[in-house]
Amino acid sequence: MKNKIKIFKKVISENKSFLLTTHRGPDGDAIGSSLAMYHFLKNQDKDVNIITPNSFPKFLNWLPDSEKIIEYEKNISFSDRLILNVDVTIMLDFNDLSRIEPLSNSISNSNSFKVLIDHHQDPDKDICNLCFSYPKISSTCELLFTILNNSNFKINESIAYCLFTGIVTDTGSFKYSCTTEKTHEVARNLISKGVDSNKVNNLLFNNNSANRIKLLGYCLSSKLKIYNKKAAIISLDQKELNKFNFEKGDTEGIINYALSIKEVIFAVFIVEKDGLVKISFRSQGQIKVNDIAKKYFGGGGHLNAAGAKSDFNLKQTIKKIEEIIETEITKNYKL
Ligand code: MN
Repeated sequence: MKNKIKIFKKVISENKSFLLTTHRGPDGDAIGSSLAMYHFLKNQDKDVNIITPNSFPKFLNWLPDSEKIIEYEKNISFSDRLILNVDVTIMLDFNDLSRIEPLSNSISNSNSFKVLIDHHQDPDKDICNLCFSYPKISSTCELLFTILNNSNFKINESIAYCLFTGIVTDTGSFKYSCTTEKTHEVARNLISKGVDSNKVNNLLFNNNSANRIKLLGYCLSSKLKIYNKKAAIISLDQKELNKFNFEKGDTEGIINYALSIKEVIFAVFIVEKDGLVKISFRSQGQIKVNDIAKKYFGGGGHLNAAGAKSDFNLKQTIKKIEEIIETEITKNYKL
């Protein structure tokens, strides 16, 4: 990493305008790492903009300067002009341009110097000139802390809050297996910079609408199906979402309740929304849900957390997952 950091410092000092971007359906790590980088570059007196493919969930709107984030879908020509005219593009928390549709074309057409900072497996290294890809690190925010810290750059309170948020959300509050001693060390360091971890917890998690909690209750009481004790599926259709006045982010984390059942080691959440069927996979131990997402649905992600879009309708998708549980999962992982 040392050599890369040397190049990174040079790229920062020799350039003036920076564009930051992150994956579609941005989560805490995506927005946290983008805003941390934004604050860092602003402190260095750089021109910086963040462009996301689409909007970010409301529970992150307290992060400092989150209102400055530009949504590509709502500002296409303005964004394209920015993308094509910057010196440096920094791509955070994704490993493949397909993750930033519909702005991937403009990004690949831009002649800017491209830096990738990410922790997903198998990055497409052709998309960047400088590639920080560390799949073993819990979050892009933890990785970004390491890069900034080893560059001897100052991490102020705003940067610390953004980084802490990404670490908390990507590690399930330091509970997932991606959490290491180093993760806690980084968190300790960020707390020493002024982060109030209780405040972050309240802002992120004690922030639910009544509808969201009722939707969760409905999922758990009426929609949870368990197979062979060890696998679980929760599915929701558009009508059900409408009944609970669905807002973006409302289904976030529901899958973890299925996985929290003592014997369950493979959980799937399927939702039909705006004519699209999306699937989230979670697992415990060695069940490689990224492989399953990729093999059957062309998706991807991490060993224990992955996602995909389905080309089938909701019913067919449920059936397909049931088949996968019966064959692949039962056979390969001895359910
Ligand atoms: Mn991440």
